[in-house]
Amino acid sequence: MPIANGAEYIESLRGRNIKVYLFGELIGEPVDHPMIRPSINAVAETYDIANSEPEIATSRSSLTGLKVNRFLHVAESAEDLVNQNRMQRKLGQKTGTCFQRCVGMDAINSLYSTTFEIDGKYRTKYHERLVDFIKEIQTENLVIGGAMTDVKGDRSLSPSQQADPDLFVHVIKRDEKGLYISGAKAHQTGCINSHWIMVMPTMRLRQEDKEYAIVGAVPADAKGITYIYGRQSCDTRSMEAGDLDSGNAKFSGQEAMIIFDNVFIPNELIFMDGEVEFASMLVERFTCYHRRSYVCKTGLGDVLVGAAAAIADYNGVANASHIKDKLVEMTHLNETIFAAGIASSYQAHKTSAGNYQNDDMLANVCKHNVTRFPYEIGRLAQDIAGGLMVTMPSERDFRSPETGPLLEKYLKGRKGVSTENRVRILRLIENMTLGRNAVGYLTESMHGAGSPQAQRIQIARQMQLEYKKKLAKNLASIEEGEASELSQEQSEYFDKIFGKT
Ligand SMILES: Cc1cc2nc3c(=O)[nH]c(=O)nc-3n(C[C@H](O)[C@H](O)[C@H](O)COP(=O)(O)OP(=O)(O)OC[C@H]3O[C@@H](n4cnc5c(N)ncnc54)[C@H](O)[C@@H]3O)c2cc1C
Repeated sequence: MPIANGAEYIESLRGRNIKVYLFGELIGEPVDHPMIRPSINAVAETYDIANSEPEIATSRSSLTGLKVNRFLHVAESAEDLVNQNRMQRKLGQKTGTCFQRCVGMDAINSLYSTTFEIDGKYRTKYHERLVDFIKEIQTENLVIGGAMTDVKGDRSLSPSQQADPDLFVHVIKRDEKGLYISGAKAHQTGCINSHWIMVMPTMRLRQEDKEYAIVGAVPADAKGITYIYGRQSCDTRSMEAGDLDSGNAKFSGQEAMIIFDNVFIPNELIFMDGEVEFASMLVERFTCYHRRSYVCKTGLGDVLVGAAAAIADYNGVANASHIKDKLVEMTHLNETIFAAGIASSYQAHKTSAGNYQNDDMLANVCKHNVTRFPYEIGRLAQDIAGGLMVTMPSERDFRSPETGPLLEKYLKGRKGVSTENRVRILRLIENMTLGRNAVGYLTESMHGAGSPQAQRIQIARQMQLEYKKKLAKNLASIEEGEASELSQEQSEYFDKIFGKT
């Protein structure tokens, strides 16, 4: 039976043979761990939204004929991609954190077209295998984690040049049934909350890196996999009594390191094996989808704008002109991120495999804005919040018969506003800009789907300077004997952006 809702999803994670270390100890059942549970709750929302808002969070799959969760759907139109963005913003609003399922969605979509092209060149069977795998996960309604980023060692060296070959995940042996991989992936979002992990290469590869050009699916609890849980700022507040100091007690993100030690991948779950020239195609298509998936941060931005407006109200400054202007600025920055992301989805094109790929330039512009604007939005929220956000006593002090009444009296805001509500909003702003969910709102915005320089490289590749110089020279009546016609590549690019005229 497919997983029908968030509660069933949480149950589906129980009783697995999954090896997770946290604070140096093996965790018995991650589902019941107070520090891990908020991240599981966030993924559960991706199931519940499919029931509460099926028009944006589900789609009919041509592969299975089933109505499937959009996180498992291969985009069949630009509208499908636009609805991904709408769903992502909604989930950001509901959880105030990273809900962890976009990586898998973007992985299956980029693999769909890449495997098709590998098969076209090498007569391999990767696409057919991938389609079978997608049918299975759609039918059972499972979570896929996308494991791309290797630990990478010396960043100036390629995988095969590293002092330790395990610094990038690679094939260590093969038999007639499949192959075995070793190595480690860092910063893996929602990996422990996933049913399957899709292992992919992280960068352009050369012929000597052949054993690193591996894509395959493994069950999250496969033999040979060890997870070491990533710390988040203020994470142990989830393990304290009460819910006030957490700021957002119900939801958080999750990242862990995944160590693969001789992990088996059967032939039918291998989707690339040694075709080095397709590694960069996969990475570029994946990051193209994923950089526009960062529209999710506008949902978190909506929460932070709301929190800033609420605290201004509680503090009695809601009508001050500079406060209103700061809220306008926060909104402007947030909508600028959304505008680029959703425009990228609308400007999608059909791949040779038949699925839809969003526009790369606009996806990179979206993600590049995400590396900056949430920091500015966070700065403005802290400005409006005031210093109490970081100097407030703990929940235990509020509940204490000695100090509680004093805090109730002296931390009062505007008349008619409960002191506890004021504290709750301040803790939420702390949570999103300095605490647990600052991982998702700030640093993930910086590095997830590639650090800022990665977007600048893609923007530079596509910025069409020669064409733009010609535009300028034409208007300035400069004749240098060069043709003012567009090159084939330039024409194709502008046809794609503006449509054929
Ligand atoms: C919260 C979070 C969640 C994430 N989730 C996932 C996930 O689910 N799946 C996944 O696969 N990945 C995930 N990532 C990984 C993300 O894609 C990487 O963090 C990102 O690609 C940067 O890699 P890095 O962290 O190793 O930093 P580094 O590569 O070390 O980069 C640090 C700095 O060095 C620069 N640099 C790096 N290499 C070079 C070079 N050769 N020459 C010049 N400058 C260089 C970079 O531009 C950057 O400024 C996540 C990251 C974060 C922070």
